[in-house]
Amino acid sequence: ALPEFSPAVVIGTGYGAAVTALRLGEAGVPTVMLEMGQLWDTAGADGKVFCPMLSPDERSMWFKDRTEAPLASFLWLDLANHDIRRHAGVLDRVHFGDMSVYLGRGVGGGSLVNGAMAVTPRRDYFEEILPEVDADEMYGRYFPRANAGLGRNEVDRAWFEKCRSYNYARVSRKAAAKAGFKTAFVPSVYDFEYLKAEEEGTVPRSALASEVIYGNNHGKRSLDRTYLAAALGTGHVRIHTLHEVREILRQPDGAYTLVVRESDADGTVLATKHIGAKHLFLGAGSLGTTELLLRARDTGRLPELSEEVGEGWGTNGNVMLGRANHLWDTTGSLQSGMPTLGIDNWDDPKYPVFAEIAPVPAGLETWVSLYLAITKNPERGRFRYDPASDSAKLSWTADQGQPSIDAAKALFDKINRANTTIYRHDLFGDTRPFENRFTYHPLGGAVLGKATDLHGRVKGAPNLYVTDGSLIPGSTGVNPFVTITALAERNVERVLAEDVLR
Ligand code: FAD
Repeated sequence: ALPEFSPAVVIGTGYGAAVTALRLGEAGVPTVMLEMGQLWDTAGADGKVFCPMLSPDERSMWFKDRTEAPLASFLWLDLANHDIRRHAGVLDRVHFGDMSVYLGRGVGGGSLVNGAMAVTPRRDYFEEILPEVDADEMYGRYFPRANAGLGRNEVDRAWFEKCRSYNYARVSRKAAAKAGFKTAFVPSVYDFEYLKAEEEGTVPRSALASEVIYGNNHGKRSLDRTYLAAALGTGHVRIHTLHEVREILRQPDGAYTLVVRESDADGTVLATKHIGAKHLFLGAGSLGTTELLLRARDTGRLPELSEEVGEGWGTNGNVMLGRANHLWDTTGSLQSGMPTLGIDNWDDPKYPVFAEIAPVPAGLETWVSLYLAITKNPERGRFRYDPASDSAKLSWTADQGQPSIDAAKALFDKINRANTTIYRHDLFGDTRPFENRFTYHPLGGAVLGKATDLHGRVKGAPNLYVTDGSLIPGSTGVNPFVTITALAERNVERVLAEDVLR
């Protein structure tokens, strides 16, 4: 049962939350984690924890009647999506007008559904986005600590060159090289030795069985196997699942009280509970944390919160596209769901792009080369509290996505020209070649040094901290979880020493 009070409470179980809980637990601080999603450790009737990507069931998505996969169509046919039962599945897609956001729900947050790419940002770009953070410290201490804690590994280059699983990446690399662009290997938290064994046929397949966005049954070092397992191992951390924090109140003595809604996995509310906390850490992700802060500020519970709450949100410049390959350039039906190569054109003065070479895990030859491009889009959205729906609404318009498309187009027009290839127009529900109506990388809403101090302490609310992707001002130039993890490592070290153990 939920205790009445805990010295530390952490909301969420994603990257920022997991780091914070581990370090609190190691310091002997009794810590409660509250997670609205499920613990993914129990096999269903098919003997698997997570459902198959190609025949998804109620385990796939968070309370939807139909799946909402990123590749909406193939040859304009809606082949990827299936009707499902409403249930506390692992992947959510939250809609705000012209933008929707993919999120992981469950113990491990985004680590359950993501592509496992573990990329440390370029130092010059990190210094540009967070100039007040000491980069020597980050690159000397916290990025290495984060990568070690996450279990980052790299693909065996010799194996990469001859395996079947990454033929699709080699085909894209060849096309990029023909246009004069270089590619870079991308580290991962998917176990590449396991992947090799999958291709050899000696272990059950996961990345090679098209598993990724609805969870991986094997091979992935998601947070429940790394940081969270270590946090529980300290004996001081407890996780309560299907517990959604709705409100944050402050008591006259300065402690926080949380209003928490407990549900079952079919969405029936079981109880509304309260828990007190001396130190409260928000790790509910860019959307979750920003909404909790906005609701607290604008309903008058925490009126001192800064006007900066809700500001500085971005998509990390995400845009997806496909190219049609020549008939002789087959990518193969066996494709690793875990990307490990990217086209690195970040040095382009006008249109910096880091484009990860993504699989099309359809289990058959599609003649598609797919990419998730990360671009330097300067546009920012803003969240506002909407009293009628008691939720945070994002303002982001389609034209704010245009800089991402312009940058991706500049790169891929050149690649198409050099290879006499064309874009695919059949993948995103209509005829558009570029899809930027969703993001995998929501960042910002409680930006470091603006809504918080330089270590994530929320301005106007003593003993309240932000630990997650909300701290990053809309862009990291690469896939963001290593940056989120490293910043959390940095901030919690300071907060433990100066605030918690003081
Ligand atoms: P999250 O990981 O989002 O965790 C927040 C947690 O809080 C969730 O579990 C949520 O259920 C819970 N929560 C929210 N609100 C509440 C509440 N009110 N009460 C209780 N619990 C709550 N990044 C990479 O670096 N590499 C990749 O390859 C990559 N691929 C991706 C692929 C997909 C499909 C997606 C969706 C994301 C991908 N990302 C990738 C992005 C990465 O997963 C996120 O940046 C990261 O998970 C964000 O971490 P976080 O700590 O901010 O919060």
